[in-house]
Amino acid sequence: MNLEAATRAAPAAGGALESLSPAVSTIRTTYSDLHGSQRGKDVPLGELERAREHGLAFCWAVMGTDLRHTPVVGGERGYPDMLARPDLSTLVELPWEPDVAACLADLERDGEPEPTDMRGLVRRAEAALAELGRTAKIGPELEFFVLEPDGEGGWRRHVDNLSMVYTVGPQADPRGVLKGMLDGCAALGIGAIAANHEYMNSQYEINLAECAPLEASDNAFRLKAAVKDYAAQRGLLATFMGKPFNDQGGSGTHVHLSLESEGANCFDDPAGGDGLSVDLRRFTAGVLDHAPALMAFLNPTVNAYRRILPDSLAPTHANWGLDNRTTFVRIPPDRGPGCRIELRVGDGAANPYLVTAAVIFAGIDGLRRELEPPALLAGDTYTLPEDEQGAPLPMSLSDALDALEADTALGATVGAEIVDTFLAMKRFEVERYRQHVSEWDLAEYLHHL
Ligand code: MG
Repeated sequence: MNLEAATRAAPAAGGALESLSPAVSTIRTTYSDLHGSQRGKDVPLGELERAREHGLAFCWAVMGTDLRHTPVVGGERGYPDMLARPDLSTLVELPWEPDVAACLADLERDGEPEPTDMRGLVRRAEAALAELGRTAKIGPELEFFVLEPDGEGGWRRHVDNLSMVYTVGPQADPRGVLKGMLDGCAALGIGAIAANHEYMNSQYEINLAECAPLEASDNAFRLKAAVKDYAAQRGLLATFMGKPFNDQGGSGTHVHLSLESEGANCFDDPAGGDGLSVDLRRFTAGVLDHAPALMAFLNPTVNAYRRILPDSLAPTHANWGLDNRTTFVRIPPDRGPGCRIELRVGDGAANPYLVTAAVIFAGIDGLRRELEPPALLAGDTYTLPEDEQGAPLPMSLSDALDALEADTALGATVGAEIVDTFLAMKRFEVERYRQHVSEWDLAEYLHHL
């Protein structure tokens, strides 16, 4: 195979191999597991052609392994291989490791696309939209905390002052950590457009430009890895875990989404109620209809459900509102080409690929079934009577997993192998948690009982 020709022929999203800086010695080839965590291998530059031809072998069980490294799924098949094939169109030099260029990989098994491949999943969602003559634009907002060692084997917030929200510069970021992350992400070409300190102590957000679903998912996945790598190099810990502290609110993954047809925004309709189109109403209705099952992907950890409570700026019910940050779907004030929906319930730890694809499939279902959303809610929806707030959301991972299993229509579009693997792995996590004696148990009961 002529590697250089293949590289030149690839889409121009990434850097070309022949223009890599001479300093680059290593090609870091990565893909997302079902958690959205980065897995991969470092390949010496001279071995890249072999990696492209043969693929890089991984034990498939990594796709069914929990975060305490138990391979929950995969053993029943004898732990077979899958292959990761580098996609050189995504090749880019890492600003914080000058001798490394990184690229994303597509997964294969037995010569076929791997059914649990996260990039393949999003490509299927894009194809389903294309069947309806639509494309989507997705803009993720990712929040995270930056922590430093506390000297006792744990981690504490690296800046611990209240009310630093939207404060920029050294007061909020005395070591220039956020600035360095933003510079790195900007150089990486993943569409980083802004960074700010968030509401909580030592909590930050980096915004990504809206783009097509696969590119947006790749960008969000790469942003998370970049932020964590940058922090790790400095002895810090960046975490997208949704609710790491009892005395602070949590971190979300907010997803902005619009549909286009032949370059025109499908959600805008100056003649429609509130300037919104039938497409927007139906897509939103599909998302709200599938909200309980979507929660499993949007809030995929035991911890995530501790973030979802009144006054958290994350919703507690499946509802929607105009420019309302207490609702599940917020309609930002922009109309015209910027008309879009924002999903606010996602936890920082959500896997961008799973979220993007599942939300698109849910919205498509609303379009196909011509669903009508419930009435728009206004004001502080947390204070409305329970029966006016919309359908309550699952309030635990266990309930969300049950909802996902029960939503066979959504499950069929996401794909049986992904859903079954996800359910098995996550139920194992829930059961481990159920059995675990925590600090809360001890503080609550040990002394008095
Ligand atoms: Mg935010």
